[in-house]
Amino acid sequence: MTLDAEREAIVEYAPQLAALTPGRTGNLSVRRGDAFAITPTGVPYDGFDAEDVPVVGLDGDVRAGRMKPSSEVPMHAGIYKRDGGDWEEPPATIVHTHSPWATAMATLRRPLPPIHYMIVAIGREVPVADYAPYGTEALADNVIAAMERADASAALLANHGLVVTGPDPETAMEHTRHVEDLCRLYIRTSSVGEPHELSPEQLATAEERFEGYGQQPGSNGE
Ligand SMILES: [Zn+2]
Repeated sequence: MTLDAEREAIVEYAPQLAALTPGRTGNLSVRRGDAFAITPTGVPYDGFDAEDVPVVGLDGDVRAGRMKPSSEVPMHAGIYKRDGGDWEEPPATIVHTHSPWATAMATLRRPLPPIHYMIVAIGREVPVADYAPYGTEALADNVIAAMERADASAALLANHGLVVTGPDPETAMEHTRHVEDLCRLYIRTSSVGEPHELSPEQLATAEERFEGYGQQPGSNGE
């Protein structure tokens, strides 16, 4: 299995990582079956093509690709392997970034509270995963623990950055931008006063509307 479509998706979506943070930090993977395509290490996000993109098995073995994979392979593989892959809805995409506002929150080790209804796409808060060195499977364990604790599809990484999981690259990148925007909103409003949080009832209403949002017939989402 060469994961051609997944490698093409890496080429297509990786440049969006550069828009989130300067430099070459951050990485993106797209999984199919027991393997995933992931951004190569040490090259600009528009500096490779599909044949360069590494394909890595969930056990960490590099199966294809002309370039070396990201140093965060153990984190991506560990998250995909959670409970032996026993996810309610297994993620097909993981985005990791050091985007500035999310990384600021992660450095405060402060979870992102529900200050705006858009958060319900991810959960009722974005939790903070305990610190572990980059490039380790321990980091995956901490991310999984935080996401399970908060019932969220994303986690801030203490003193490091952000991880967002999703069903496909389009959604995961969009949710990454949401979290970054909401962290910016939280930090800006906190500089003036204490931002109000939405109540559980208000969040439940937002969740109902969110589930009906989109292209379904009869939907009147904004
Ligand atoms: Zn990182």
